[in-house]
Amino acid sequence: MATTGAPDRNFLWSVFQKVDKDRSGAIEAQELQAALSNGNWTKFNPETIRLMIGMFDRTGSGTINFDEFGALWKYVTDWQQCFRSFDKDGSGNINREELQTAVTTFGYRFSDNFYNVLMKRFDRSGKGLIFFDDFIQCCVTLHTLTAAFSQHDTDRDGIITIGYEQFLHMVFSLRN
Ligand code: CA
Ligand code: CA
Repeated sequence: MATTGAPDRNFLWSVFQKVDKDRSGAIEAQELQAALSNGNWTKFNPETIRLMIGMFDRTGSGTINFDEFGALWKYVTDWQQCFRSFDKDGSGNINREELQTAVTTFGYRFSDNFYNVLMKRFDRSGKGLIFFDDFIQCCVTLHTLTAAFSQHDTDRDGIITIGYEQFLHMVFSLRN
């Protein structure tokens, strides 16, 4: 499936109609959850669903209408492609080594120990594996936290000094 450029509107409309099961003209969280797949019969993480709807719901309705759907669809297919490219052994999930490659490719530099923390946080099966939904959650969370940190790290030395209330403000203003 082509993921570059805007997908054709007729195609998008046919997908939108399939996802909008109750024909309400908008995609609710549970409809999006039903449409997305981890490829292993597990339900898509509701946190990731909330995150995605929040990112593309420009009208603030809490749902995705057809105008908003194109951008969401592109986002999902781009992530699918990214996930597949890092799932080197084609197992349908990301192990620690694959995560390390992915995260390093995104430009982050972490110690070995930090990968234990990441695996612990995003490996919901407890088998040392990260599925598609949690992979998105992991990457988006890293991105959001890094952006919040960078705002304070004006001299870019990787160290920030912030007060207690500033810290709370930073944490509470994060989207996820
Ligand atoms: Ca609907
Ligand atoms: Ca794999």
